[in-house]
Amino acid sequence: MTSDFPTLGIGVDIGGTSTKAAVIDALGNVIDSIVLPTERGAEGVVSTALRATLALTSSSAISLSDVDVIGIGIPGTVDPQRGTIRYGVNVGIGHDDIDLGSRLTDELGVVVHVENDVRAAALGADWYLSIEHGSVNDLAYLSIGTGIAAGYVERGQLRRGSTLVAGEIGHIPIDPHGPRCACGQIGCIEAISSGSAIERMWPTEDGTSASALYRAASNDDVAAHRLWTGVIGGLSRAVLLLALTWDPEVIVLSGGVATLGDALLEAISERLAADGRRSEFLGSLDLGARMRVIDPSVPLGPIGAVRAAHAANVIPPVPLP
Ligand SMILES: [Zn+2]
Repeated sequence: MTSDFPTLGIGVDIGGTSTKAAVIDALGNVIDSIVLPTERGAEGVVSTALRATLALTSSSAISLSDVDVIGIGIPGTVDPQRGTIRYGVNVGIGHDDIDLGSRLTDELGVVVHVENDVRAAALGADWYLSIEHGSVNDLAYLSIGTGIAAGYVERGQLRRGSTLVAGEIGHIPIDPHGPRCACGQIGCIEAISSGSAIERMWPTEDGTSASALYRAASNDDVAAHRLWTGVIGGLSRAVLLLALTWDPEVIVLSGGVATLGDALLEAISERLAADGRRSEFLGSLDLGARMRVIDPSVPLGPIGAVRAAHAANVIPPVPLP
């Protein structure tokens, strides 16, 4: 069997608070994985990626010379061809480009490919579902975490857009009376339905706001029910947006809020079904049947970062003008 994967790859998924890294074999199996805290800022993310890679080679008793590619997934505006990242707000990176790819390649002596974290995870989901259920032609990946963004994979190829912001649907305004978003607009989907929006509306000590809000809403707490309805309304708009823009076969829900699993899937499906009863056209889209939640223990980010790194060696992405 031929494989999209190099012999051994290391994938590193740098998140706002923690970083996941994994060794991935030729068949896409996870050989070893670790999680460590993220250091923020330009120097912090370089140091985090180095520490994660070296900790992983040490724990899996492999040498860097055994590794064909290293892929990094990081939030922000990433130019995969130049290996640069900017506007990585969640990891403390501003408007100046950071040469993450070339700095890590120089330090590690292995080609390091950098990809936006949501796009990397979308590729990871595409691979995972292809192995589990056969090939997927069109896949949309909706990340519902601190922010909200989507990735789109068509026949194994990522869609990045002409200025690298394809899929930033969290910043589509849906409520002119909603809260102000960090991006400056009013009532963005992200300001209503993201993990950080839920934390702001329903704070908890231990960062479990989404499940606490869901439980309270299920127990007929009136305020919680109203907020939960708003959260689900925003997420169902996001799913509809993906469906009508790209018409994907599969829409994967992921990110911190999606750890609610079937409860989230059912709530969004019910909302879309209710909309579908009012519109024969929307009903005909059968969106509930297209949505999936993948077990959060599968490290989609690192797996997809390795796949992106390998794909970059075969088909170069289109550079920015
Ligand atoms: Zn916004």
